[in-house]
Amino acid sequence: MKVLVINCGSSSIKFQLLEMETEQLLVKGQIERIGMDGSRLKLQGKQEYVIEVKHTIPDHRTGIQLLLDSLTDTNYGVIDSLSEIDCIGHRVVHGGEKFTEAVVITDEVIKTISSCIMIAPLHNPVNLEGIKICLELFPQVVQVAVFDTAFHQTLPETAYLYGLPYELYIKYGIRRYGFHGISHQYVTNTLAQKMGRPLEELKIITCHLGNGASVDAVKYGRSIDTSMGFTPLEGLIMGTRSGEIDPAIIPFIMEQEDMTGKQVYRYLNSKSGILGLSGLSSDFRDLESAARFGDTRAQLAIDVFAYQVKKYIGSYVVSMGGLDAIVFTAGLGENSPYMRAKICDGLEVIGAKIDLRKNEIRGEDAQVNKDDSDVELWTILTNEELMIARETKRLFEQYG
Ligand code: AMP
Repeated sequence: MKVLVINCGSSSIKFQLLEMETEQLLVKGQIERIGMDGSRLKLQGKQEYVIEVKHTIPDHRTGIQLLLDSLTDTNYGVIDSLSEIDCIGHRVVHGGEKFTEAVVITDEVIKTISSCIMIAPLHNPVNLEGIKICLELFPQVVQVAVFDTAFHQTLPETAYLYGLPYELYIKYGIRRYGFHGISHQYVTNTLAQKMGRPLEELKIITCHLGNGASVDAVKYGRSIDTSMGFTPLEGLIMGTRSGEIDPAIIPFIMEQEDMTGKQVYRYLNSKSGILGLSGLSSDFRDLESAARFGDTRAQLAIDVFAYQVKKYIGSYVVSMGGLDAIVFTAGLGENSPYMRAKICDGLEVIGAKIDLRKNEIRGEDAQVNKDDSDVELWTILTNEELMIARETKRLFEQYG
């Protein structure tokens, strides 16, 4: 059974084709710079192919057509005919309160995803566009929407409500939703398998540390609190995002820097975080190497980030009433022994002891705690596309 996974961003489309009997990746690829100069399709199968498209890919429709053509290309294609695709899974960023799990896409589902556009104006429109194009091209194929927010719909009111007038929640749905849910769920499931224990018994903290970063408390398989909020701007400081700040800072910056609300919003999203603090880069690799050469602001940005992750871990231990394991995942979490060690420094008070020798690994699933640690520490490679494909297969078999 072949599942095509599609993840439409504003100027990119990521995709994977998987053979789900064996969960084998047949090909993955990315279309970049849609609507801009230098757009291209990059494909990676058993070998790496990079195809530079000379003409601009003006829109997502052209991009999707191009990726479909690439799947059956006589030189580097991996299937003979598009009819071999059994179902399609779409990543959708925001499912609001309407979607608590993945769903087969129907007209009703499309209407409901559209109704979430008000709270996710940057992401949902382009996700919907991808869905509509694929429905037109594959009217007979089962298509599934998998939401970044759905995993967090188990948060209790006490964790998702803000200290705002309750009417704003009722009127506009202003509350904590949380994101990266597909990744948090994937690593949670994988961890339980690796620990050889049922998920329903485990209290886990998952740290998705990439360019965007969030921490999640998963108690007995259910997300009960998470650091991102109404939007992915809340929580930890990130590559370019500020994370949580005192809201009074916003009108202060508007006045002092003569900015509009929209300008401050962009500033908090794209000029802040470790980039803003270090004045150097949004990439932790750059900061780690600059800090080694004595750049104090790079070191400061790293220290602030690690401190914030540690703070969330501490608070979630209390929220869950205990802790069995911490997982590190995504670009930084999977690849930076330095950052993992820094975050874990001091966690002995909650029974988590990192083994610095075992921790010296990059890009693999591994247990990195000392033998006498009460809390297990793991790095697990996230695979959001595989999670989407699994959900798509599950629904196809249930309702297809
Ligand atoms: P992601 O958003 O999951 O792709 O993660 C991207 C981020 O991971 C980059 O911006 C880097 O900051 C970080 N990263 C990736 N590899 C490494 C590494 N070897 N050492 C430190 N940070 C890394």
